[in-house]
Amino acid sequence: MPKSGKPAPKPAPRPDSPLDADPETRSDDQAAASDPSRQQPSAPADTREVVWIQDTETLRAFCQTARLERVVAFDTEFHRERTYYARLALVQLATFRQIACVDPLAPGMDLSPLDELVLDPQVLKILHAGRQDLEIFVERTGQVPSPFFDTQIAAALLGLGEQIGYGPLVQKVCGVPLGKTQVRTDWMHRPLDADVVRYAADDVRYLAALYKNLNDDLLRRGRREWLNEEQRTLSDLNTYKTDPQAAWEKVKGTDKLKGVGCAIAQRITAWRETTAQELDRPRRRVLPDEIILDLARQRPRTEAPLERMRGLDPGIRKKYGARLIELVLESEKMPRDQWPDGRKRGVAREVDDALVMALAVVLQIQARRADISQAMLSSRAELADVVAGIRDVPVLNGWRRELAGEAMLDFLQGRSRLRAEKGKLILEPAGA
Ligand SMILES: [Zn+2]
Repeated sequence: MPKSGKPAPKPAPRPDSPLDADPETRSDDQAAASDPSRQQPSAPADTREVVWIQDTETLRAFCQTARLERVVAFDTEFHRERTYYARLALVQLATFRQIACVDPLAPGMDLSPLDELVLDPQVLKILHAGRQDLEIFVERTGQVPSPFFDTQIAAALLGLGEQIGYGPLVQKVCGVPLGKTQVRTDWMHRPLDADVVRYAADDVRYLAALYKNLNDDLLRRGRREWLNEEQRTLSDLNTYKTDPQAAWEKVKGTDKLKGVGCAIAQRITAWRETTAQELDRPRRRVLPDEIILDLARQRPRTEAPLERMRGLDPGIRKKYGARLIELVLESEKMPRDQWPDGRKRGVAREVDDALVMALAVVLQIQARRADISQAMLSSRAELADVVAGIRDVPVLNGWRRELAGEAMLDFLQGRSRLRAEKGKLILEPAGA
């Protein structure tokens, strides 16, 4: 996760570790960034030592302890600005007794003890907004780490905010103020600054406390099962697989394409996906979305017009220009009934806007009753789907149905009504 934070008490450093550096030597910049109000956390001081792990044996020993404790908090720092696959730069782990920052770039470092730890079904992994952390291990091992507990999802189910950041959640739940997010850190840089490592350790320092607190609340409010439902997608290996044929649906603007334009966009986006994987290069560095749209609209038959397309990398054009033209021509030869239909995705339907709004009111009432954010339950677009008669939507399934979906259906079918009374809006059975 993006990092933040005032370091907790200074850990006992190991020789050769960035933690040896004297905190007094940090730059003026960082000194200025530390806000005096952050220096006295209201929670008892966490005295856990931070160890900097640069060899496989120490990592193995640490993972062994974590496996005995059956719980580990973990976070990763990585870069993927220049690559398709994430480059792992740092792994933070916390057990009850220790916090470790693991250096995956250390010479000779073998991360297999870590892979075994995160895949161990006996060990609960605690993470915050963990999708990308999980994805890294899916790429490494071909399996989804399990079981896990995502504190961001848990917080949303408890009405603490939709996609609350780690820092704000720690502040809310533990009363510990963490510093500003340091999004610009170059995690691949070595040696890592001592402060950077300490800040990184904070990313896992409070996860176990969050887990305990949030899990207790979920249990008390009968919502623990909801978390399993919400995490089901993240636990599914398919979530991490990309289908090149479906990739074009995520390209902005393709919903406005028509006819053969959709076929071209689909083919070229599928090509981009596999090429980006082969070259291990970000998608947009192979072909920006706008170029896909240009190709789908202009349907060039020769390479000459490609030279006028702004944003098309000259290297890519020289190497793959002929292939791009081929893809356009192949798409044009496809039989009409095989063209994908872009418009199906953004179906324009005739729905009664006022009814959609009334449904939003029912949703709001139900959300307030349950003390959960409305956005967690449904969206405007989904409500329009419901009004249009579509039933295969999240709000009409699982815990959302229980909490809001049933009430919405009752309202749509005339079994309940809205009534104003003494400055309040009341949702009541129609016969009342
Ligand atoms: Zn992080």
